[in-house]
Amino acid sequence: MRSLPVLKIDLRRLILLVTLAAALLTLGNTFHASYRVQRDLLIGQTLEANRVYATKLADSTEVLLAAARQQLAYSAGQLTTTFDQTSRLAEETQRLRLQSDIFNSVYILSADRKLLAISPPNLAVTGTIVDSDGAREALEKRKPLVSRPYISSTGRLVVMLSQPIFAADGQYLGYIGGSIFLREKSILNSLLGEHYYRDGSYIYVVDREGQIIYHRDAERVGEVVRGRPVIEALIAGQGGSQRTTNSRGIDMLAGYAPVASTGWGLVAQSPTANTLDKLDVLMMAILRYALPLSMITLLAIWWLSRLISQPLWQMASTARAMDSQAASPQIREVRAWYFEAAELKRALLAGLALFDRKIGKLNLDRLTDPLTGLYNRRGLQLTLEQWQNAERPFTAIALDIDHFKRVNDQHGHAIGDQALQHLARLMRDNSRDLDVLCRLGGEEFVMLLPDTSLDAGIQVAERLRQCMAACTALIGQPITLSLGVAHWPSSSTDIDQVLTMADRALYDAKHGGRNRVVTARLEST
Ligand code: GH3
Ligand code: MG
Ligand code: MG
Repeated sequence: MRSLPVLKIDLRRLILLVTLAAALLTLGNTFHASYRVQRDLLIGQTLEANRVYATKLADSTEVLLAAARQQLAYSAGQLTTTFDQTSRLAEETQRLRLQSDIFNSVYILSADRKLLAISPPNLAVTGTIVDSDGAREALEKRKPLVSRPYISSTGRLVVMLSQPIFAADGQYLGYIGGSIFLREKSILNSLLGEHYYRDGSYIYVVDREGQIIYHRDAERVGEVVRGRPVIEALIAGQGGSQRTTNSRGIDMLAGYAPVASTGWGLVAQSPTANTLDKLDVLMMAILRYALPLSMITLLAIWWLSRLISQPLWQMASTARAMDSQAASPQIREVRAWYFEAAELKRALLAGLALFDRKIGKLNLDRLTDPLTGLYNRRGLQLTLEQWQNAERPFTAIALDIDHFKRVNDQHGHAIGDQALQHLARLMRDNSRDLDVLCRLGGEEFVMLLPDTSLDAGIQVAERLRQCMAACTALIGQPITLSLGVAHWPSSSTDIDQVLTMADRALYDAKHGGRNRVVTARLEST
């Protein structure tokens, strides 16, 4: 039982699929690798930019604080001799505050915590006793200080820079303090607030305990942030950069630097997402550049897959109908441009040629007689059909060896066979290539002579009879023939009848004494 043909994927689609998959995979991989490299590069660049920026701002803060201290130190020196002159103290606080924008307020406190002068004067009443963290620390330590953030006597969150005032004899008189208001407009705002916040990046400053001194969001000033790697690194006095998450859980790229003299730490950070926005633009640009060549590559793959598969495809589809007459010419037309296809083409053509030869031989065997090589009855029948269809006139000669039984009986069957072969040879010699010669069986033969008149046919029959009779080589005496001749369509319009008529004429020849040619009589109508 023949199984149904299974539909299989063809070579072209297979090549296309495999190469496409490989190409896309390579492209995807390259794209992914490029994405990773670009991303790491961008993140690295932003981290470094933020670190450099934080360091620069930390340096500026340092310079500013140094200037502030120097101003306080100068004032303290000036006040050594005029500490008891209240108007002089008021003047000095005013001068110091207005000289630069560093301090929001300047005041002088005596060793017994009494407020001697303050600028601006409306902040507090002179003569009051001050009991703030900053004041206590300054009075206690009696040396230049930068305080921790504390709530001042006016209720503000401040950082205070102080300078002790000593009399000429070394007696401690009190101190002069400059406050920076952390939640109001101050020098820190001016220094740090000029930062561009457009891309989501911002700055904040913490003191040595992790308390926020400056933040763009004033609400957060005073808040203590501990436990974050960046803050801990700053408290440990280290600068650097790292990727981190801020208090709102936003992924950030932070650069940080300590302000050495105060133990403060400055952080400049920007959202990672903003940096990665640039990555999308970059990747789109890469894609735009890669796309034309990729499209050309895909087109080339498509074209190549066609070129490679076409010869095999053509041969495969021809091989489906190997028995068709067109198979060989179709395969011959296949352009087998590479080794395997060429070999297949050669093998297919060789196979087809062998096949054709075998079939041709089988057909010939089917139509011929093995002993003489002449056509058999089937060959005769085939010829008659063709000529009838083509309306091709012909003369038929029926012939039979006389007393052939005797030849066999007296000389053996082998000699009989030789006689048959000899007759076949003579028939060939006395006919043209286009004449059809048949052995119908035993020692009965027929010759069909196309486009030959009855008279010409009679001549051929006569010549053959004489040739046969002339030979005595086989059995030492002549072997003779009786022949009957008829013509189509003049002897009979019925093509089968013509052979019967030739046979009858042959019968007449036998009865007339053998070794003769008899022409068919026209049938009386
Ligand atoms: P007639 O003159 O009346 O034709 O006499 P005949 O003996 O030729 O006629 P008959 O038909 O009686 O004999 C035909 C003989 O042909 C019989 C058979 O021995 C012989 N014969 C038939 N086929 C072959 C063959 O293939 N080889 C040989 N050697 N002899 C054959
Ligand atoms: Mg005979
Ligand atoms: Mg016979």
